[in-house]
Amino acid sequence: MASGSASGEATGKKAVVTRFAPSPTGYLHIGGARTALFNWLFARRHGGKYLLRIEDTDRARSTEPAIDAIFDGLSWLGLDGDEAPVFQFARSDRHAEVAAQLMENGHAYRCYLTQEELAERRQKAQEERRPFRIDSEWRDADPATWPADRSWVVRVKAPREGSTTIEDLVQGTVTVQNEEIDDFVILRGDGTPTYMLAVVVDDNDMGVTHVLRGDDHLNNAFRQLVVINGMGWDVPVYGHVPLIHGSDGAKLSKRHGALGVDAYRDEMGLLPEAVFNYLLRLGWGHGDEEIISREQAIEWFDMVDVGKSPSRFDLAKLQNLNGHYLREADDVRLAGLVEARLDGVDGDEPADLLVRAMPVLKVRAKDLNELAEGSAFLFAQRPLAMSEKALALLTDEGRERLAAIHERLSGQADWTLEALEANLKAMAEDLGLGLGKLAQPLRAALTGQTTSPGIFDVLVLLGREESLARIGEQAQVPAGSQS
Ligand code: GLU
Repeated sequence: MASGSASGEATGKKAVVTRFAPSPTGYLHIGGARTALFNWLFARRHGGKYLLRIEDTDRARSTEPAIDAIFDGLSWLGLDGDEAPVFQFARSDRHAEVAAQLMENGHAYRCYLTQEELAERRQKAQEERRPFRIDSEWRDADPATWPADRSWVVRVKAPREGSTTIEDLVQGTVTVQNEEIDDFVILRGDGTPTYMLAVVVDDNDMGVTHVLRGDDHLNNAFRQLVVINGMGWDVPVYGHVPLIHGSDGAKLSKRHGALGVDAYRDEMGLLPEAVFNYLLRLGWGHGDEEIISREQAIEWFDMVDVGKSPSRFDLAKLQNLNGHYLREADDVRLAGLVEARLDGVDGDEPADLLVRAMPVLKVRAKDLNELAEGSAFLFAQRPLAMSEKALALLTDEGRERLAAIHERLSGQADWTLEALEANLKAMAEDLGLGLGKLAQPLRAALTGQTTSPGIFDVLVLLGREESLARIGEQAQVPAGSQS
C-alpha cells in the first residue's frame, strides 16, 4: 500500500524557517496576527528565521491598502519579517514551471474535461448519493490524443490507494485515506497557478521548515503533500492551530469585538505589548502565567502547549491586560501617545505637564482613550466647559465654598501636595465639614468633571496660578458678606 507521511519531529539539523502568509483581501485580523505571533515566536525560540509572504494571487480581491495595513499591523506588534517579504503573484512563472515539471515527471497531467462535463458528473453523483470525485479519463491519456482545439488545465495525480498521515504539532496524528484526495487543479486554463500549487512552491523555495497556520488549512495540507511528494521536496513540519471563537463559542466576528489590528491601536487605544500578550495567551499557555513579556515568551514558547480546542476571544480580558501595561509603561512614551489623541495639544516633545501627570492618570485608565479623556482637563481653556454632573455640584453652597477655598489658598505660597493637603484638611476641620464637601466643588471647578485624579494632585499639576483662576471663575461670594 502506498502511504506517505509528514513527520512531526523537529527537523534536527536544518535551521528553523517559519512564515506568515496572509492573503491581503482584508485587513490584518486578530486570528492572522496570532498566527504571525506563533510563527515569530517559534522561529525566535529555535534561533531560526521568520518570513512574510503576501498571497496576492486573488487579483480581484487583493488590495494595496490591505497589504499596507498588514505590514503596519505586524510592525506595530513587533512582528516584522526577518527578510524582505515575498509577493506570491510575482512568482507565477516559477509556479507554472513547477506545474510543467510535475507533468514531465508523471505527477500531473493535462486535463481537457470541460465545465459542462464536470457539472454533469457532479450532478450524477448527487443523484446517486455518492461523493463526487474527479475521475478524469485524461489522467493517463496518451499525448497523441490531446485535442488541439480545446483548452486544458493541469491537474495533479493524487495517489488513489493507501493513506497519508501527518504528525501535526498541534492536532497530533491525522490520517486521511488517499481516495479522498482529488486530482485538484494546479494550473488553470489561462496558465495561472492555483493557490494550492503556489503555497507549496513558495514554501519550498523559501526554505520553510515549519508550517504553522490556522486549522482551516489542515485539509489543504494533505493536498499540498501530493505536490511536495511529486517534486520529491522536503516535507515541512505542520502545526495547525485551532481558530479563535467569540466569547459565546460561535465563530469569531465583528460582533465579538474582533476587529482589524489597526482598530485595536487607533479606535480602542490599546498598547502593542498588551495585544501581544493577549494573543499569546489565546490558545497557548505556560502554567498559570498571565503577564508574559516578549523575552519570557521566546523562552517558553512551544507548539505542544497550543491547545487543541478553539480559544475564546474575551475583550474585557484584553482591556484589563491593557490596563496593566499602561501602568507599567514609560511616562514620556505614554504622554506622546496621549497627546496625539488630544485636540489642540501637539509638539515634537510631549508636553511636560502631560508627562508629569502620567503617574496619577495612568493608574485610572484602561486604554489610551480613557487616558486622553482623563488628561483633557490639564489643557482646557477658561472658561472651563462643565459636564452636567459637575454643574450639579456647583450649587450656591458649592460656589460659596469655592469662594472660601479661593481665599484660603490665595494665601498659600507653598504649593506642594503635602502643604495643600494640610491646608485644606485644616480648613474642612475649621468648617466642621468632611473633606469631600470641599473636594467635590473644587474638583468640578478645576476639571469640569466629577472624576479625576486625587484633588491635591490636580492642584499641583495645574499649578498655583491656573488653579486659583479656575476656582475663582466658579466661586460666588456669599450674599450679604460683601462689604
Ligand atoms: N494565505 C492563506 C490565508 O490567509 C494562508 C496560507 C498558509 O498559511 O498556508 O489563509
